[in-house]
Amino acid sequence: MKQKVVIIGGGVAGLSAGIYAAMNGFDTEILEMHSVAGGQCTAWDRKNYRFDYCLHWLVGTSGGAFNDIWKETNVLNSETEVINHEIHSQIIDQQGNTFFIYSNIDRWEQYLLGIAPEDEKSIKSMCNDMRKSALLDPFSSAPELRSPLEYITKLPKMVPLFNVMRKYGRLTCKQYFDKLNFKSERLRSAFYSMYGDRDFSAMAFIFMLGWFHQKNAGYIKGGSYPLAQRMAAKFTGLGGKISYKKKVDKIVVENDTAKGVRLTDGTTLAADYVISAADGFATIYKMLEGRYVSKEIDFAYKNWELFTPLVQVSFGINKEIAAEAPIIMNIDKSLKIGMTLLTGGYSVMNYSYDSTMAPAGKTTLVMRYESPWALWKDLEGKAYKAEKMQIEKDAVECLEKIYPGISENIEVIDIATPKTDVKYTGVKDGAYEGFMPSRDTMMKSIKMKLPRLKNFYMAGQWLFPGGGLPPSAQSGKWAIQLICKQNRQRFVVKG
Ligand SMILES: Cc1cc2nc3c(=O)[nH]c(=O)nc-3n(C[C@H](O)[C@H](O)[C@H](O)COP(=O)(O)OP(=O)(O)OC[C@H]3O[C@@H](n4cnc5c(N)ncnc54)[C@H](O)[C@@H]3O)c2cc1C
Repeated sequence: MKQKVVIIGGGVAGLSAGIYAAMNGFDTEILEMHSVAGGQCTAWDRKNYRFDYCLHWLVGTSGGAFNDIWKETNVLNSETEVINHEIHSQIIDQQGNTFFIYSNIDRWEQYLLGIAPEDEKSIKSMCNDMRKSALLDPFSSAPELRSPLEYITKLPKMVPLFNVMRKYGRLTCKQYFDKLNFKSERLRSAFYSMYGDRDFSAMAFIFMLGWFHQKNAGYIKGGSYPLAQRMAAKFTGLGGKISYKKKVDKIVVENDTAKGVRLTDGTTLAADYVISAADGFATIYKMLEGRYVSKEIDFAYKNWELFTPLVQVSFGINKEIAAEAPIIMNIDKSLKIGMTLLTGGYSVMNYSYDSTMAPAGKTTLVMRYESPWALWKDLEGKAYKAEKMQIEKDAVECLEKIYPGISENIEVIDIATPKTDVKYTGVKDGAYEGFMPSRDTMMKSIKMKLPRLKNFYMAGQWLFPGGGLPPSAQSGKWAIQLICKQNRQRFVVKG
């Protein structure tokens, strides 16, 4: 008899865990409360336009441990096309000045020096930090399973990076920019506007641009939905089972050992191992009723800052709009959309680089802005509908600021609020990437095992501040490595 692994949640973490469990000979079932797999990694179609909710960059598109995972899980295969943008983003300030972030650090350095030759020392120092950060080479096995050889082969190559981490590992972006002390007003305005006064780790910013420089954070043509479907197909192809519209209510525990799950329809499912790849808070405090919590975990869920949820306004435009940059950020903080003051500005993504997103001759544009959960949590019924109507009106005005005259070409408008995200994925307070990577949390993670609870593992974005697809998928792989170790069997990867 094969041992049974039950996985709660069919997002990227759950799908990854499922694939590796099936590869290792377990009878594997994913229970997903929604009617499709993918979780946050999703998209939807409206009148032949596709509105993507997630993917614009995927770390690991060209190499390293994440790349292995993407190949092993069918995210990347011989048919997938990776697009590396030359321009990372374009920033427009209140006065209409534009500022570009290039993906290639050498090119960006020249651009910055052209704008502010007086800041040569600071610009070169920042760009060198980014070049060094490209040396980051993630481990392929779970921390508990790493051999000394793995450390010996990886760590020496990363020494220059450790120096950057030692210097800036505990700084916020703002503190980092303070240290760089740019003299140019244009640079100061662009850099400080990006993360504002929030506690966002400087290392997260440095790493992001390092990965782009390496061309190891591309976009996969087709976006989020086919990405998740390729993983689901790999899983079922290996004999795994996904059951949709199955919401887990409780994790069944006997003698401090996970024995299965109980669904909201009252049925129970027995298992030898349970992995939760669902929302971290709901798993620990609701499905397990807070009975297996360490001080560290409790501290994290009570104190670590969460990502501010997003409102996404998607537009189907009945003409072609060429894009110089895939993302345009308007950093005018005085604007309001509906009830939300845009303290972080708003961004507009132009998907014209991906022909699958709109019919020929048309364009999909996606606007996003942050909107605190406190504004949404009690908004219901008529008030919620009225807010969506106001958003539609205000968002069109904001779009006009970037594309004057666009209103007459808008064919479809679709609004997804933080409540939409919570409804379809169960993510806590709409925090779409879990914990914010702050100066204190960026280098931390949450353990995959809960204290005293046997045969149970956590996977997914809540284990790693910053979240994202790569650590989510990696944690799914690690969960199966740990189960194989517990089962005294060799972990294998099969085609
Ligand atoms: C707008 C946006 C843009 C993003 N851009 C990027 C990007 O460019 N690159 C990147 O790497 N990351 C990006 N991310 C982040 C990335 O999408 C997430 O970090 C990642 O998808 C999280 O995967 P997960 O499997 O851990 O969790 P989730 O995707 O939240 O999956 C959890 C799954 O569990 C299911 N579930 C929850 N509760 C239950 C229950 N009780 N019973 C059964 N099922 C349950 C949910 O329905 C869901 O399918 C973005 C996210 C958003 C929203």
